[in-house]
Amino acid sequence: MNRVFVLSRTRTPLMPCHPARARKLLRHGRAAVFRRQPFTIILSDREAGEIQPVVFKADPGSKTTGLALVAEFQRGRQVVWAANLTHRGHRIKAALTDRRMFRRGRRGRHCRYRPARFDNRTRKAGWLPPSLMSRVNNVSAWYSRLLDRTPITAAQVETVRFDTQAMQTPGISGVQYQQGTLAGYEVREYLLEKWCRRCAYCGAENVPLEIDHIHPKSRGGSERISNLTLACVPCNQAKSNRPVEDFLARDLKRLARIKAQAKAPLKDAAAVNATRYAIGDTLKTFGLPVSFWSGGRTKFNRTAQGYAKAHWIDAACVGEEGSDVKVPYGFQPLIIQATGRGRRRVRGNDRYGFPRGKPRTQKRVYGFQTGDLAELKCLAGKSAGAHVGRIKSIRSRGWFVLDKHDRPAREFRLLQRADGYAYTAATA
Ligand SMILES: [Zn+2]
Repeated sequence: MNRVFVLSRTRTPLMPCHPARARKLLRHGRAAVFRRQPFTIILSDREAGEIQPVVFKADPGSKTTGLALVAEFQRGRQVVWAANLTHRGHRIKAALTDRRMFRRGRRGRHCRYRPARFDNRTRKAGWLPPSLMSRVNNVSAWYSRLLDRTPITAAQVETVRFDTQAMQTPGISGVQYQQGTLAGYEVREYLLEKWCRRCAYCGAENVPLEIDHIHPKSRGGSERISNLTLACVPCNQAKSNRPVEDFLARDLKRLARIKAQAKAPLKDAAAVNATRYAIGDTLKTFGLPVSFWSGGRTKFNRTAQGYAKAHWIDAACVGEEGSDVKVPYGFQPLIIQATGRGRRRVRGNDRYGFPRGKPRTQKRVYGFQTGDLAELKCLAGKSAGAHVGRIKSIRSRGWFVLDKHDRPAREFRLLQRADGYAYTAATA
């Protein structure tokens, strides 16, 4: 269970506390609810408290980013808060593609006096497509929020898939490539990237892959990374200790391709993910120390500690300190979904780009807007009872949708303003 964020009377972030303690403080009137999501309380009597260092950790992904706050207690490091943050890059891309199509259509129409518009746009250095930039903004927004809620002292981010420095350990043996050492994990991540996560011999994807010596070790093949590839279990067994020329005698094309790819060094650019670096650079602007780590190390740490694969667990296992982190049993992360803050578009389009329906007149109706967290109390009818959730849509005639209930505004009570994210997890 995620801990509850605690603010002092003067809004200084204190150590997050257990939900049971938060309930007790609230019951005794020593604290009040500050935010529903993520759940934060503000103390009414204390201005300061004992603080241990808390590290913000992130494992940025293309669809989901894992976030974790790891506190350094005297008894060891422990996850105190974690979340899976789902991005909305694909929705941004789809919306921009739509807009571009409609514009092209409009401008292609017969408008004699429309001036030519081309070659008049520049891009700043470090520009990223809006769909990717939104990921950077999501992560930095959450870093900024968490800085206001917890005594964070440093940030650790996974920025590269593998670390070429850690890979170059001399004297690494065959078994170590398969399991065990950190260097072995970095090598694996390197090979996965280089061979596109596929079996080199049959092209199989999404199957367990083993590291294979292209020129077999028993025939004097080297341990160098240029002699290694990835093979699925059947191919690896079928090839066994046969020379690759013999094994692929019937597929000379593939043989040539494997030989060429084995020799080609993986360009650094291939291992670098522009978005991940942009995230790291943005976090640096907040002024706290930020360190960058490899995915190979994360995987090594997670496997060595026997944790399951999850974005937030990966985040907790990032970096050198990730080798010794306690994830409390049955811990549930907060699920955060980036939703955006509504559109500026006034009218809807039909699928040909023509306006459809009435133009939107206001973003807020009776003080509510789409995305607000609200409580709905229905006195009668099918929806009778109390419901808490995110308002899915508001309508200018004064009826709002929450879950499946479509009810008039007077039955809603605002709990928290829309903040661009939707949450799914029980609060304390
Ligand atoms: Zn295969």
